[in-house]
Amino acid sequence: MGHVRFRSAVAPLRRGPFPVPAARPGRASRAVAEIVRDLRPTDPLHCIRPSVLTETAGRFVEAFPGTVLYAVKCNPEPAVLRALHAGGVRHFDCASPAEVRLVRQLFADAEIHYMHPVKAPTAIREAWSRHGVRDFSLDSAEEIEKILAETDGARDLGLFVRLALPKGGAVYDLSGKFGAQPDEAARLLRRARAAAARVGICFHVGSQCLDPLSYDRAIRLAAEVSRDAGVELDVLDVGGGFPVSYPDVTPPPLNDFVAAIGAAFSAAGFGPSTSLWCEPGRALVAPGVSVVVQVLKRRGQELFVNDGVYGSLSDAGVPGFRFPARLIRAEEGAPAPDSAFAFYGPTCDSADFMKGPFMLPDDVGPGDWIEIGQLGAYGGCLRTAFNGFDQARLVEVEDVPLLATPGYSSNARRVA
Ligand SMILES: *Cc1c(COP(=O)(O)O)cnc(C)c1O
Repeated sequence: MGHVRFRSAVAPLRRGPFPVPAARPGRASRAVAEIVRDLRPTDPLHCIRPSVLTETAGRFVEAFPGTVLYAVKCNPEPAVLRALHAGGVRHFDCASPAEVRLVRQLFADAEIHYMHPVKAPTAIREAWSRHGVRDFSLDSAEEIEKILAETDGARDLGLFVRLALPKGGAVYDLSGKFGAQPDEAARLLRRARAAAARVGICFHVGSQCLDPLSYDRAIRLAAEVSRDAGVELDVLDVGGGFPVSYPDVTPPPLNDFVAAIGAAFSAAGFGPSTSLWCEPGRALVAPGVSVVVQVLKRRGQELFVNDGVYGSLSDAGVPGFRFPARLIRAEEGAPAPDSAFAFYGPTCDSADFMKGPFMLPDDVGPGDWIEIGQLGAYGGCLRTAFNGFDQARLVEVEDVPLLATPGYSSNARRVA
């Protein structure tokens, strides 16, 4: 049999060997504007803020009254994972063999939880036998039997029943694809109890969830399922969904979510033997990465730029997310008043359009660069190689985020 060779469809972010100018004395990295003026990048430049990522993770881990798992799919860039690890994240929610391998390769001490309810048998076996994974989520009886078969009757498994939730108030609804209805979830919980060392319920309220009460409702439902099943939970995992700021949205502060979750957890009567977990993605990483694009052409209030919906700006396309933007000129000029712009991406597809509006100085034009913020979540990881525009570079910078999110990152230390 011939060997099948695997190859990533997208060129990895390149760290070098391009000449990133030396940092100023006493600094580990430099400011975005300075780097852009030195490098004059003609490919999208991903700017990672390791200290922002570390600080954001640290604040979340400190604020959340339980165990924090980072949802790796949101941004699997190794530099990002290292910065989160430095902030105290030791648990990782993985959903594919590649994510499991990546996390294990980076951190021998990581606890990896395989929280995708529909897995290939080979993926379960590899995670369990080679990477020490013990926790698996599921939403069907077949998946339990598959997990048990691939783990040779192991007695130390953790089985997590993914509970379906009614459509809630999140910007990204995740209620349709995964999850068992309450009756079925109760049956699965009983089956899991008979086979596993620990059992839990997990759910996802939807991404960029702006309403703390969504967690309250989901926790009540989980408590009902546990009661109906007559199974005490070892773990209640409230999933991800924690929101961040965008130009038109300032979410309630993290503490409102923590308080709602804590209150619902106590009110639902979970005992001291039930641990509380969560799986944030967006909230930990969105503020920690920006992308610098270059303007190729201006047509009225439309700018043709070198990244787009097939690149790291997928959410600016049909989902219509707005992102903060700031202009970086080759030469410092007199400031112009802001006006609203839409972007076209570099591919030939007319769907490669981002209506924004992106607020930028009125006289922006070809050759200028634009830094787009809050792209650490579901940005770079959604890039494709469509039309050959898959080149991008990566630098580490010391800037604060373009937007502050209440309760985590602050914009107080703005770098001049
Ligand atoms: C995507 C995902 C997350 C992270 O969601 P965010 O909204 O980015 O916080 C957490 N858990 C599971 C199972 C997911 O699929």
